[in-house]
Amino acid sequence: MKLNEDVRTACPYCGVGCGLIATRRLGKPKSITGDPDHPANSGRLCSKGSALIETLDLEGRLLRPVVNGMDSDWETALSDVARRLSRTISEHGPDSVAFYVSGQLLTEDYYVANKLMKGFIGSANIDTNSRLCMASSVAGHQRAFGEDIVPGNYEDLELADLVVLVGSNAAWCHPVLYQRMFSGERPRQPKVVVIDPRRTATCDGADLHLPLKPGSEAVLFNGLLAELERRGKIDRAFVARSTEGFEAAMAEARSSAPDAAAVARACELEESDVARFFDWFVETEKSVTLYSQGVNQSSSGTDKVNAIINCHLATARIGRPGMGPLSLTGQPNAMGGREVGGLATQLAAHMRIEDAGHRDIVRRFWQAPKMPEKPGLKAVDMFQAIAEGRVRAVWIMATNPVVSLPDAERVREALRACDLVIVSDCMRHTDTTEFADILLPAAAWGEKDGTVTNSERRISRQRAFLPPPGEAKPDWWIVSEVARQMGFGEAFPYQSPAEVFREHAALSGFGNDGTRAFDISGLAGIDDKAYENLTPLQWPVTAERPGGTARLLGDGRFFTGTGKARFIAVVPRAPKHAPDADYPLVLNTGRSRDHWHTLTRTGKSPRLSAHAAEPVAEVHPKDAAAFHVKDGDLANVVTKWGEAAARIRVTSDQRPGSVFVPMHWNDQFASHARANAAVNPVTDPVSGQPESKHTPARITPLHYAWHAFAVSRAAFAGFNADHWVQARGDNCWRCELSGAELPSDWNAWAQGLIGPPVHAEDWVAFQNTAARVFRFARFTGSRLDGCVFISVGIPAVSRAWLASLFAKPRLSPSERVQLLSGNPATGQDSGGIVCSCFAVGLRQITDAISAGSARSVDDIGKLLRAGTSCGSCKPELNGILQRTLADKEPSHEAGPGPLGTAVAIG
Ligand code: SF4
Repeated sequence: MKLNEDVRTACPYCGVGCGLIATRRLGKPKSITGDPDHPANSGRLCSKGSALIETLDLEGRLLRPVVNGMDSDWETALSDVARRLSRTISEHGPDSVAFYVSGQLLTEDYYVANKLMKGFIGSANIDTNSRLCMASSVAGHQRAFGEDIVPGNYEDLELADLVVLVGSNAAWCHPVLYQRMFSGERPRQPKVVVIDPRRTATCDGADLHLPLKPGSEAVLFNGLLAELERRGKIDRAFVARSTEGFEAAMAEARSSAPDAAAVARACELEESDVARFFDWFVETEKSVTLYSQGVNQSSSGTDKVNAIINCHLATARIGRPGMGPLSLTGQPNAMGGREVGGLATQLAAHMRIEDAGHRDIVRRFWQAPKMPEKPGLKAVDMFQAIAEGRVRAVWIMATNPVVSLPDAERVREALRACDLVIVSDCMRHTDTTEFADILLPAAAWGEKDGTVTNSERRISRQRAFLPPPGEAKPDWWIVSEVARQMGFGEAFPYQSPAEVFREHAALSGFGNDGTRAFDISGLAGIDDKAYENLTPLQWPVTAERPGGTARLLGDGRFFTGTGKARFIAVVPRAPKHAPDADYPLVLNTGRSRDHWHTLTRTGKSPRLSAHAAEPVAEVHPKDAAAFHVKDGDLANVVTKWGEAAARIRVTSDQRPGSVFVPMHWNDQFASHARANAAVNPVTDPVSGQPESKHTPARITPLHYAWHAFAVSRAAFAGFNADHWVQARGDNCWRCELSGAELPSDWNAWAQGLIGPPVHAEDWVAFQNTAARVFRFARFTGSRLDGCVFISVGIPAVSRAWLASLFAKPRLSPSERVQLLSGNPATGQDSGGIVCSCFAVGLRQITDAISAGSARSVDDIGKLLRAGTSCGSCKPELNGILQRTLADKEPSHEAGPGPLGTAVAIG
C-alpha cells in the first residue's frame, strides 16, 4: 500500500451501497467522504457513513487465532477446524455441520463458503443473516418472476410521481435513498405515502401516512388490486400476454378486500385515507412501491410482497422508468449473498436446489463430488437443530446471532451445548464469540478487497485501504485454507479475490442461454487490473450488455418456465401469535437512526452514540397509563420468550396497543437490553424469515432504590448495579446505572466504577446522606478523569454537557466549580444531539424556533448548521419545527432518553 492514496470503496452499512473515498495520508486513514462519481449516492452520505472514520481503531479487535480459549496460530487453528469438521461429517454425515454467514461478507467470501458447503461437504446447511432482513422479498420475487430479480433501480425514485413506502423507515434506515426521492430534475415533487403502524421520521416528508393495524398490509394491497379492477385500470393486454394466475389473485382480492370501507375496517384506518391512497395509485402511472423489513419480517411476509407485486403486474408498472416494486435490503451485500447461494434455499448463481438440471450445471462446473438435493436449514431452524444436537458443528462468520436472532436466549443455549463452535470475526468479544471453541481473526471492512451488490443490482468494488492488523485474514482466504486442509485443494486454489470473482462470473453464464437473469459472464474474463479498476455496474453484464443493465422485466419476459409472470392469490393471514390478556401489546423491533446491527461498529463512534445512547421502548400515552409508566422510567418489555429492559418513551407516534424497541443493544453495552431475547421465533412458511415485528408483549415497570449517571475517561472497571447501559462519548464512556440495594459506602462504590484517585486531593465529593444525593469526581491535576451523580430519582444533570467536558484536556477553575452541580452555567447546554455531524442539540434548535430566528429547516441550517452535511437529521428537524411551532411536545425527534437527550431528565 502506498503511504498516500485516495481509495474508492463502498459503505459497509445499509443496502443503499453508497460509494466512498477513503483517504490515507502517511499510511494512516485521514478521511472518508462520499464518492461523487458513484451512481448510488453521487457523493452524499448519511450520518453513519459520515462517521466511518471513527470506527477504524483496533480497540477490541481479534488479532490472532484463539483455540479453546488460548492464543494460537493459523496453522494450528486451521488444521483444528478442518480436522474437527471432517470428523463430525464422517461420524454424523454432512448435515451435521452448518455455516451461518452474513451480509457483511463480500461476494467472494460468500462464494467460497457456499462452494465448500454445497459442493464439497455435500450439505445445503449454509444460511445467512440476510434471512432475517429480506428472505421474504427473495421468495416473493421467485414466485412472481421465476427468479430473485429486482426489476428497477434508484433512479426510478427520482422519476416517479408517486412513491409508496411500506414498512420502511427509509429516512433513518436508508437515508441517502430517502433523500434521493426528493431530488432529480422534475417539474414537481412526487407524492409520498408511508404505510407503517408507527409514525416515523419518514412520515415527516410524506403527503399521507397510513398507520395501519400491524400485519394487515396484505388486505390493503388486495384492496388496491380490487380497486384497480373496479376503476378499469388493469392493463388487460399485458396481463393476457405476460402473466398467469390473474383471475385467482383477483378473486381473492375481491373476496378479502372488496372496497375501501372493508379495507379501512380490517386495517383500522380512516376510510377517506384508504380511498385517497387508492386514488393516487390508480391515477399515477409512475408509481414506485418501496418496501423493507416491515413487510418482510412477518409470518406472512412473502404473501405481502406478492400482494404488492400483484398491483404492479396488474398495471404493467414494472421494469419501466419511474415505476415498479423496489425491495430495500438491510445490509451492504445481502444481494451479493443471494447471487452466490448464501441462502440455504438456493444454489449458486440464482440456480435452484430442487432443480436437477441446475444441480447438474453447478456440479459439472465445480467438479463437485456431492451436491445436496434438498434445501438446507434456514437460520431459525439451524439454531433449533443445533439445540437439538442434529447439527453438531457450526461455523459462524461475521455475525452475532446471540443478539440478532429471535428467541436469542435459546440461541445462546444452543451454542453453549454445541460440540464445536467456530467463529470468524474481527472483534474479540461479542455475545457470540463467548461460545467459540475456535476463534478466527477476520479482516475488517477497511482491510477487505472484493465486491458487493446493493439493492438496485449494482456491483461495486470494496477496496482495502488499510493493511489487516495482527494476523487478521480475509474470509475467502480462511475458508479456502480450511477447504484445502479438508482435502479439496484442487477446487480451492484461489490466491486473490479476483480469481474467485472470475469463477463466480463464469458460473453465472455456464449453461445459462438466457434462462437465468443473473448473468455476469461478461466479467468472467476480467483481468486483475480491470478487476481492480472495476466501476459500479448493474447486472446482468453479458457480452451483449457489457455496461450492465439498468432495468429488467420491462419487456414482459419473465424467468418462470412459461416466460410469464405469476400473480399469487394472497389470502391475508393474521400474525401467528395474537395479543391476549397477559400480553396485550404488540412488540415491534427495528433500528435507531445512527446505529447499526449489534453495535460492534457504530458503538465505537461518539458522534453516532450521542443520538441514541440507550435503548428506548416507545409506547402510546394510553398504554403508558395502563402499564403505570411515564417518560424516562425504566421497564422490562416482557414476552413469553424473554424480556429486554429499556427506557420508556411516551409518544403518540406509536399506535395504541404496540411497543417499539430497537434491536441493537448487546451485553457489551447493556446489562439486559437484547431486544431479540423477547422476540418470538415464528417464521414465514415460504421464506423462513422471522416475525420480528409482531410478538405479544407487556410492560413491567422496573423500580430501583437508586439511579446514577457516570462518565469516565477510561473504560469503566465494572458495573456494580442491577441495570446499566454504557455508550461512547468523545474521549470518554458514559453510563446510566440503577440498583435495588443501597451500597453501604457510596464513596467506595464510586471509586469501583470510575477508579480510585492517585492523590487524595484528586477526589472531589459532595454527599447529602439525608437526601440520598451523592456526587463524586476524579481528577488528575486539572484533567477530569471521571464523575458520578447518584440520587433516588434519575439524576437531573446535563449529560451532554458533562460528557463534553472530557473532550477538554483540562477544566477551567469555573468549570471545576460548576462540575458537581451537574449542569452548566445558563445557556451552555445544547440538549440531546439531533444533528450528529455538527453536534447540534434539541435545546439549541427549539430555542432558535421559539425565538423566531428559525421558521424553516433551511433557517435552522443557516443558523446552527444542523442538517447541512449528511442531511440524515432533516426529517427530525422538520418534525421539531412543526411541533415547536404548534407548541406541542417534541416527539421522536427528541431522542431516546436521558443519555444524550434533553427529555425530562436534563
Ligand atoms: Fe452507508 Fe448511509 Fe449510504 Fe447506507 S445510506 S450505504 S449507511 S452512507
